[in-house]
Amino acid sequence: SIPLTFFGGIKAAAQAGILIKGSNYLEALNDLQMVVFDKTGTLTKGNFKVTEIKTSNGFTASEVLKLAATAESFSNHPAAVSLRVANGQPDWPIKVVDYQEISGQGIRAQLNDHQVLVGNEKLLVSQGIKFSQQSGVGTIIYVAIDRSFAGSILIADEIKPDSQQAIKSLKRFGLKTALLTGDKHQVADQVGKFLGIEQVFAELLPAQKVAKMQEFNQQKSSKKNLAFVGDGINDAPVLAQADLGIAMGAKATDAAIEAADLVIMTDEPTKVTSAIKIAKKTRQIAM
Ligand code: ADP
Ligand code: MG
Repeated sequence: SIPLTFFGGIKAAAQAGILIKGSNYLEALNDLQMVVFDKTGTLTKGNFKVTEIKTSNGFTASEVLKLAATAESFSNHPAAVSLRVANGQPDWPIKVVDYQEISGQGIRAQLNDHQVLVGNEKLLVSQGIKFSQQSGVGTIIYVAIDRSFAGSILIADEIKPDSQQAIKSLKRFGLKTALLTGDKHQVADQVGKFLGIEQVFAELLPAQKVAKMQEFNQQKSSKKNLAFVGDGINDAPVLAQADLGIAMGAKATDAAIEAADLVIMTDEPTKVTSAIKIAKKTRQIAM
């Protein structure tokens, strides 16, 4: 039978806002070798603000923002939310006739009067749209209207206040750290460098994140565990791939909570360290 102390550990974790789905996962925290993080919404707030709009082919900034925000009406991606916030209250009724989210790239929406693409460079390339590459500090959202490049919207996120502390303390425990993101290299490298994350991989599609996790799995020592921490916006398959999948944040999706072994109920990445500390204490009592 399971020693009572494991229940004590699970209870202590719950009181700290960490739900552990079984004593085996509490135990697994003691043998971690590497913690892999998602970026947006996990190490950063996932609360983008529009900082600049550039236009092309005769479109105006307000047209670009309005059509992009309307096209994003049904997406819960942080980029989509930021466009809706910047656009303000939508005209009613919402005019989306058909809508498709392309994971790791963006969306394609048919409005009653326009076809709109909103996403990264990969999206415009894959949809065969001619465009000029944009630059700027932050994440660049490309917009195409009726198959013409209409402009770009620069959105900027902020690193969470305790992300740096979280990485520092994991390294102090002797753990390796890595960052996997669908965002562009420039943004990923900046965040990784600021936080002191050893390995940074950017511009990954969801399937490539899964492949990267499989690679890490093969590299690690057999008795050690690999953790992945994400908010679950299209990374549920990666959470499922890890020895320890950790869903993070008050906004974690249902799919992420379902796929995860641990759920952190707050927006604090330092809770990963708290969970490890509780696991260590539990093992001491159990032994
Ligand atoms: P991350 O790994 O940072 O969580 P995602 O895989 O969710 O990133 O997305 C990768 C990139 O694809 C984003 O940085 C953004 O440029 C683009 N993207 C994804 N979904 C959307 C969307 N709904 N609207 C606009 N852009 C999107
Ligand atoms: Mg994500």
